[in-house]
Amino acid sequence: MSDFTLALIKPDAFPQHAGIIISMATEARLIPTRMVTTRLLAIFWQQFYKEHKDKPFFAPLVAHMASGTVLAMVLEGEGAVERWRSLMGPTDSRAAGPFTIRGHFGEHPRRDLEQWLTDEHTETCNGLGLRVGALYECICGGRD
Ligand code: ADP
Ligand code: MG
Repeated sequence: MSDFTLALIKPDAFPQHAGIIISMATEARLIPTRMVTTRLLAIFWQQFYKEHKDKPFFAPLVAHMASGTVLAMVLEGEGAVERWRSLMGPTDSRAAGPFTIRGHFGEHPRRDLEQWLTDEHTETCNGLGLRVGALYECICGGRD
């Protein structure tokens, strides 16, 4: 099985920029093998971003994620975690190069794309689901 990562297109980028972002991923041979659009309550995002719970941007981040639809996808391909991160560019889009997705679209560190990095690339979607069950169940249902 090839490496994979979870990519999220946040509410401010969906739907306007979804097409070009997916094209940039597939051009880079990161194939969206699972995709779902969903809107989730703040309680979900509080859990999803729990490592940031003491940071000043936590509340606005959670509010933004709960404010609309997100497009979540599993991107598969050799070195998917590292390659998707380098294609996205740094978290702060002001520091992102012009050939990165964030360099193109990000206006603010919160108003950009999110990627949840997996430590073990061979971990199954069900394993990842231990952390954020609802989203992964939705996106990875039926997968080993
Ligand atoms: P990334 O999205 O690059 O994987 P993190 O997982 O560290 O970054 O952070 C999750 C989200 O929290 C980011 O996408 C961004 O929206 C927000 N965030 C992280 N760091 C900051 C910051 N210093 N200021 C404002 N928002 C931030
Ligand atoms: Mg992240």
